[in-house]
Amino acid sequence: MSRLKPATRLYLEADLVRDGTVELDRAQAHFLKTVLRLESGASLLVFNGRDGEWEASVSFLDKKAGGLSLERQRRPQEASSDLWLAFAPIKAGRIDWLVEKATELGVSRLLPVITRRTVVERVKLERLQANAREAAEQSERLDIPDVLEPQSLDRLLQSWPAERRLLVAAERQRAQPLPEALASELGAYGLLIGPEGGFAPEELERAARFPFVSFVSLGPRILRAETAALAALAVTQAVTGAWS
Ligand code: SAM
Repeated sequence: MSRLKPATRLYLEADLVRDGTVELDRAQAHFLKTVLRLESGASLLVFNGRDGEWEASVSFLDKKAGGLSLERQRRPQEASSDLWLAFAPIKAGRIDWLVEKATELGVSRLLPVITRRTVVERVKLERLQANAREAAEQSERLDIPDVLEPQSLDRLLQSWPAERRLLVAAERQRAQPLPEALASELGAYGLLIGPEGGFAPEELERAARFPFVSFVSLGPRILRAETAALAALAVTQAVTGAWS
């Protein structure tokens, strides 16, 4: 490698093996050539979520096509944190920001959920997936989170895996402070954040019937949905040890 710490990281679908070669698709070639202005021989890091992180060099590149030569594995694949975030979609711009930051904070699955008071029901899934991929590239993650199709709150509750706790962020008196709820029970978690208008009372009543649901408080102030999501992720990662 010509540089000790190459700035460029690229997520690839291809398998990564010693002395392997990888063909770049048109979008990747365009990005490396036109946006990053890389030339043949340039060094970069690549990962695919399965084979760790590899040092690679550009073997050829034009605006429509390109190829990489894989040199050596720099980091083996590691188990990533197992934390899901379900959230009512919010306006474009803020949802992009939410997906980017949640990816940086190590979320493993993002689940857009349509609730009674959700105002934004159309989600540009490919755009959110691209945000997640770019944030993973930038933050030195070895994988990218799954971003699922939007689903109704009812469907989310019906299909939720029984062994994973669902911590529903709700500004209501019976909610336990999030750090306490996390300390009281170890295991796999998902967080659910409501829309700007909050959950409807009947939605909270229905959620309460599922044994894997607990209601959690994020403090005395009403947070915007994206603030609530990121605060909840940060606290969960810190308390469950994913930051140690
Ligand atoms: N208009 C709603 C109300 O006053 O009830 C506020 C909704 S808040 C902007 C959006 C979402 O963030 C809520 O549905 C909840 O999931 C979460 N949230 C915000 N502040 C919270 C807090 N202090 N505790 C728990 N959840 C909170």
